[in-house]
Amino acid sequence: IASYGLLAAFLYTYFVLVPGMVPGGSGAQRTLLTLVQVNRALLFAGASAALILGWRSSWRRAYAFLAAGIGIGFVLRIATSLAIMRGAYQAGTLYDLAWIVPFLCYAAAALAAPDSPKESPELAVAPSSIQTALAALPVFLVPMVGYGVLYLYPLSGAGDSFRALLTGLMTVAGLGLLTLRLAAQGGELQRLDAHKRLLAAATEQTGDLILITREDGGVELANDAFVRAVGYSRQELAGLSFGDLVERGFGAVLGHISSEVRTRGIWRGTLLRLRRDGTSFPAACTVSALRDASGAITHFVGAERDITQEIKLRDQLVHSERLSAIGELVAGVAHEINNPLQTIIGSVELMLEDRAMSDSRQDLEVVRREAGRAGQIVRNLLSFVRRSAPDRVGADLNGIIRSVVELRGYHLQQRGIHLVTALPERPPRVLVNREEIQQVILNLLLNAEQAMTSAGRGSTITIRCIPTGDGPVVEVADDGPGISADMRGRIFEPFFTTKDVGQGTGLGLSISHGIAAAHGGSLTLCPSPEGACFRLSLPAHAAPAPEPSAERAASSSSRRVLIVDDEAPIRKLLARLLERRGFDVVEAETGAQALELLNGFGLALVLCDVHMPGATGKELYRALVERRPEIAGRFVFITGDRTAVELDEALRGVPVLTKPFTGADLQAVLAVVGLDQAVV
Ligand code: ADP
Repeated sequence: IASYGLLAAFLYTYFVLVPGMVPGGSGAQRTLLTLVQVNRALLFAGASAALILGWRSSWRRAYAFLAAGIGIGFVLRIATSLAIMRGAYQAGTLYDLAWIVPFLCYAAAALAAPDSPKESPELAVAPSSIQTALAALPVFLVPMVGYGVLYLYPLSGAGDSFRALLTGLMTVAGLGLLTLRLAAQGGELQRLDAHKRLLAAATEQTGDLILITREDGGVELANDAFVRAVGYSRQELAGLSFGDLVERGFGAVLGHISSEVRTRGIWRGTLLRLRRDGTSFPAACTVSALRDASGAITHFVGAERDITQEIKLRDQLVHSERLSAIGELVAGVAHEINNPLQTIIGSVELMLEDRAMSDSRQDLEVVRREAGRAGQIVRNLLSFVRRSAPDRVGADLNGIIRSVVELRGYHLQQRGIHLVTALPERPPRVLVNREEIQQVILNLLLNAEQAMTSAGRGSTITIRCIPTGDGPVVEVADDGPGISADMRGRIFEPFFTTKDVGQGTGLGLSISHGIAAAHGGSLTLCPSPEGACFRLSLPAHAAPAPEPSAERAASSSSRRVLIVDDEAPIRKLLARLLERRGFDVVEAETGAQALELLNGFGLALVLCDVHMPGATGKELYRALVERRPEIAGRFVFITGDRTAVELDEALRGVPVLTKPFTGADLQAVLAVVGLDQAVV
């Protein structure tokens, strides 16, 4: 650009100024020729300096082309000037290369010049009006100087007309260029403006919280999301500083953030943001600095995200991991406890059946009841930690309620809580997963019991079963402290609890709600004049309970029973219980032994433990059914963890006797396989 400027200056001097100021041909010519060489020499010096200074920059190639072009031009121009002085110059000859070659090099330099950086921040600065006026100055100087010279040093005749024409042309061309420049500048400003507006809208509408503070921490700007999150108005925020918007106790962290941003340029971490109402929320923040041209920090920019939900989810995950670890532990312990419990219960039952021991009968009853309670606790623990089987069976809702009442009845009595049950005479039938529905009612009962004992209020829990047109409804109502209006909306949320750490997990109602919904029913809190009342609705199930099939019973070729269990005490006990019922018992310790025995005789029933060393109960079942398909209907599993069987697709429908079982449980299973008619 400078080179073009100098060339224009030269032409103008040559044609407009010098002819008037330096009269007389040869003197003027020498002056002009010297002027040209000085002009070229200056240009060359400038371009060479630029090349040296910009040697390590991306401009090196461009400066090299410029310096080379001007250098060649300088040398060629000496030859041209000498030719002019000799009078040998003619326009349109090789001598014109002196000005053509440099311009070719300028074009090459323009191509080699690096691209401007995209969206450089400097672009955002509009040129001041002084800068615009300075750019327009040459265009106004041209006519002033041109016409001034015409007036001060007039030439005669055609010379002045030519000078006037040149001045006119230069002025028009200059004005045209100035107009183009202003138009381009306006277009660029408009584009920048649109850009700025887009950026402002994006900042406002992003879901992230953005806060810009001044160097002293005072709030300069906050986007909508930030304003909403902290609950202050924009006017209020303008009077606050960064420190006012974080939880007290974060003072040291603020100092750390500031020094981190100053030294490293950025700080990332988590802060507790303080809302206007005094509550706070955790926010993951990135704080960076805005600097001015001299590098001094003018503002801090914070972009942050409310991570309350993330933290909650993470905690839930940790919690469920812990629960599943506890589950494994409980399953192991339950397995170990069930076997001795089974022996205790079975032996006591045998003693009870022995009339001679009538003296100690009462004590034995206590032992049986307490061992039964221990067994139920283990079973509840297992049903809580295990994912239960997805299949549903037709069941009697009264029976389910009674089983829960039996479980807690004793406890409630101990705590002075009166438990009232109101069940319909005709038991409502439901298609449910028994254990899950038991779990729901148990949860409701436990919650009522805990609320009443901790508040020291209330004396009665009522469980009502009401058949309705849409299916039966179970209501568990207490006259305890009740649930306040502000908590009603939250009690079904997972992990919502008002109990102390270790007392409640906040899972009871949410799991129960899920179970009810999975059964096509609902669990709701219903209005009650005092205390709390929960209502569990279940869809009706019309199908009658499956009757033991007569055909099956008839097909039992004998009353011979095979017991397969590696635990001798359990095997012996079962054998005695069955023998008392008139069965002919054969025992096997392992699956292999059972298969051998099977070849010898016909069987009415196989009772088989699930967990055995060597072939497991499930493997034995498959092997047996393959050889003797009729066995499929006369097979019963014995296990402490019934889901181990129920979760297996192929074993659905095989009856399960859950340890520890009582004589009545055994009788019930015998009824299922059609062997309940005792011979003795
Ligand atoms: P948890 O029992 O582990 O706290 P839940 O989901 O079973 O978890 O219950 C959530 C909360 O609901 C309890 O902490 C308690 O505040 C409230 N709640 C549930 N049942 C009752 C009730 N019958 N009376 C009073 N409050 C209850």
